[in-house]
Amino acid sequence: MASKYSAFQLFKEGLKGHTGWEPAWQDKSPSPSYDALVIGGGGHGLATAYYLARNHGLKRVGLLEKGWIGGGNTGRNTTVIRSNYFYPESVALYDFALKLYEGLSRELNYNIMFSQRGIAVVAHSELEMEMAARITNAMQINGTDAELLNREQVLERVPLLNQNDDARFPIFGGIWQGRAGVARHDAVAWGYARAADKLGVDIIQNCEVTGFLIENGRCAGVKTTRGEIRAGTTGMAVAGNSSVLSAMAGFELPVRSFALQAMVTEPVKPCLDTVLLYMGTGTYLSQSDKGELVIGGGLDRIPSYGQRGNPPLQEEILSGLLEMFPAFGQLKLLRQWAGIVDVVPDSSPVIGPTPLPGLYINGGWGTGGFKAIPAGGWLLAHLMANEEHHEISRPFDMDRFARGRLIDEAAGAAIAH
Ligand SMILES: Cc1cc2nc3c(=O)[nH]c(=O)nc-3n(C[C@H](O)[C@H](O)[C@H](O)COP(=O)(O)OP(=O)(O)OC[C@H]3O[C@@H](n4cnc5c(N)ncnc54)[C@H](O)[C@@H]3O)c2cc1C
Repeated sequence: MASKYSAFQLFKEGLKGHTGWEPAWQDKSPSPSYDALVIGGGGHGLATAYYLARNHGLKRVGLLEKGWIGGGNTGRNTTVIRSNYFYPESVALYDFALKLYEGLSRELNYNIMFSQRGIAVVAHSELEMEMAARITNAMQINGTDAELLNREQVLERVPLLNQNDDARFPIFGGIWQGRAGVARHDAVAWGYARAADKLGVDIIQNCEVTGFLIENGRCAGVKTTRGEIRAGTTGMAVAGNSSVLSAMAGFELPVRSFALQAMVTEPVKPCLDTVLLYMGTGTYLSQSDKGELVIGGGLDRIPSYGQRGNPPLQEEILSGLLEMFPAFGQLKLLRQWAGIVDVVPDSSPVIGPTPLPGLYINGGWGTGGFKAIPAGGWLLAHLMANEEHHEISRPFDMDRFARGRLIDEAAGAAIAH
């Protein structure tokens, strides 16, 4: 079991040449049965396992990951954390996550490098300014921090932006959320893994779920590449693979899977101290602690499980970047990658029971679930332990598609990530 990280421990280890650090978590083999089983070793699955043990006192919790923990979208995203959504249900969800993020390094005893540098969402016309004002007002009414910026205030924050009056996307102003920011994505996965391991959770890697054990119409566990495992309650948080798993369980999800791309430039000196998003192009970026510019944009056009991303979208994202910052045309691109995200028609997540009793889902986060990891884990753990919704997850139940109570954030806030 890992000891507490502290300045004293670091000093002590420094004197010994750092030879005494224990592994941050143990790589366990599966037991034949668990009280609770979580499928998916991304941030949401790991957080769920942690909160099952931490909030609900479950002793026998197992987490199954087909590859390595954090190797899915959690380790592939552009790390933006914010709660600038339009609908009250969304602000309640994402602001809950943001508040948990604010105390997460201390909670997990693991530095997740959360940097609340703020996000500016830039508008390019009078019409977009009206939209920006509408979203800012909604955010304020829903109780989160938001400010409407004029052109001068945007340029004061990001002086390198293209200031030409004849720019394709001129700057009119924007929305500012100061509590937004970025965190180290791997550290979020590793921090939850370490803290969960400390509470006795079995983290089992290289263990793919290949089917469900269904007894008397109820989920009684899973079939895996390492044998059958029984469980009192089962939760799945498998992002782009949600429809694959639901097909194994015998039901269909309103999810389509798409590649979402990101890329980084060579490192440069500090030149951007906020997260920045252009409404017109959908391109957004931030600067990492190493100096690389971390850049992203919209979804690839065609649903796919091809985890690489296609050139037309890369071209679109990069032309968006050069529109914002013509000077960045001199930079070299270092890396590009993609992850498979699970997109739901109203661009809001699905959290709740599934048509197979005993199986619960956390998914449908599409392009923006990194920011929700602490809340997603908290809420799925609550569902699995109590067999009923937390008030924050209730509106995100799958039954909203039958009842017509969609939470259409794509139309409401029109911002991805
Ligand atoms: C390029 C890119 C940029 C993004 N940028 C942002 C951003 O800036 N901000 C933001 O909030 N969100 C962002 N996102 C979205 C965010 O990354 C995801 O919504 C989030 O990471 C989902 O977490 P997760 O734990 O649900 O999924 P994942 O991290 O994908 O974890 C799911 C895990 O399930 C495992 N799994 C799948 N099938 C099985 C099986 N059969 N058996 C066992 N295990 C299985 C997978 O191997 C995987 O490790 C971005 C995504 C991408 C791809």
